[in-house]
Amino acid sequence: MRKTLCGLGIFLVFFLGMFSTAVQAAADPSIQLLINGSKVKPEVPLQLVNGRTLVPVYTVQEGLDIKVSWDGKNRKVTVVDGSKKIELTIGSKTARVNGVQKKLDVAPVIISNRTFLPFRAVGELLGAEVDWENKTRSVILNKKTTPPPPKKPETPQVVKVTSIQQTDQVISIQTSGKTEAKSFTMNDPYRIVVDVQNATLATASSAIPGQGTNPAIKNVRFSQFEPDVVRVVVELAGSAKYDLVQGASKIEVKLKDIQSPEPSVPPVTNPPVVTEPVEPPPVIAPGDGTTQQPNPTGPLSLKQRVRIVVDAGHGGKDMGATGNNAREKDLTLGISQHLANNLGADPKFEVIMTRDSELDKQLTERGVKQELSEKVNIANDNNADLFISVHINSSTSASGKGTETYYHSDKSKGYASTIHKHLVQATGFPDRKIKKANFQVIKYTKMPAILIEVGFISNPSEAKEMQTEEFQQRVADAVYAGLKEYIQNN
Ligand SMILES: [Zn+2]
Repeated sequence: MRKTLCGLGIFLVFFLGMFSTAVQAAADPSIQLLINGSKVKPEVPLQLVNGRTLVPVYTVQEGLDIKVSWDGKNRKVTVVDGSKKIELTIGSKTARVNGVQKKLDVAPVIISNRTFLPFRAVGELLGAEVDWENKTRSVILNKKTTPPPPKKPETPQVVKVTSIQQTDQVISIQTSGKTEAKSFTMNDPYRIVVDVQNATLATASSAIPGQGTNPAIKNVRFSQFEPDVVRVVVELAGSAKYDLVQGASKIEVKLKDIQSPEPSVPPVTNPPVVTEPVEPPPVIAPGDGTTQQPNPTGPLSLKQRVRIVVDAGHGGKDMGATGNNAREKDLTLGISQHLANNLGADPKFEVIMTRDSELDKQLTERGVKQELSEKVNIANDNNADLFISVHINSSTSASGKGTETYYHSDKSKGYASTIHKHLVQATGFPDRKIKKANFQVIKYTKMPAILIEVGFISNPSEAKEMQTEEFQQRVADAVYAGLKEYIQNN
């Protein structure tokens, strides 16, 4: 007769040492059992037999999700593990695994009416690893589970956005490969924002074929919103529902249920004929990051107020460079505050600081990357006319020294050289000239933008000077003078 072993006191034997013929069992409650990493409390204390630990089969059965049955007539134990069936006979060194004979180094035995199975054999037959940790007096049983299918490498492919076009109610974003897009809406005006992930802009033109064919769609624009995110913004006259359809090399925004806005402005039936291309009016749509015309056009010198964003480099948990008892984020803040005071007292300027304290004003203590993109957003969303980011340099060598100014696009080159001329005079440090660079804050800001590296924090004498109030004011005065000269000529 066959019967499950649960109540019969059958034990698996874990022979953790050499097998001895002198079998002497003793309960040892101090021995712990760990099955697949978790401690299992056995029904009865584990047994120690000549230095070998015996574990009640019921406990193991539960922990390992196997089925054990006992055939008393034939003195046979059957272990079923999934599709694997292991048959063991008391006193026999031969086991059968799915009907195939396997040799065991020791045979299962019965002690005081309880069956003990050789652990090495059972462990091997079940595909389990058995170990003994002497320090914690633990029997450790780990059963290998079938490994999950190998995951695809997580590094996403960067795709190119090759074109964006509008066909009546559909905006198509052509990509060089499959990628994900996320979308959301914004109000006042109503906009559908699509962020194409892991994508870079590969279209030189800002024109969108088909734009203007549907009066319900006021404007479609796009930008490299983040280094790996292309943002497409569809601005509507009213509101609408939409489907975002993502294909292998195309992402489509399909508008439906377009609601007309309140008729506030009569439709222009006869647009004025123009012979000269005119700049479109500035798009003031804070927050969507794609404003294509950041500045009201026209010379800065003729503007009533020039709006400048002053970015004190780093801040919060981002110290920037450190050295010689100084932190970059403190020095940049000091200089920026002096500069903001100068500009604030001049009616020609309107100043916006990305932070005006130890912590970012509008920014939280997030990662550096995100923080940088927010600084970019502050400048772009506020349609700033100029952007300046204040930084302090650092070198692995204490002898590195000097002042340098960075710009990214050619439209910022004149701005860089004018400010740098004043700056290097004020610091008195070696002239490291103006340089072109890809820094995020000067690359993605849409107005003329520069990043100044005032001096080297790693250089003891420059670091000492830069920490003085007098120096910081002098630098601020120089940058202010440079700004005045620049707007005079532009
Ligand atoms: Zn810096």
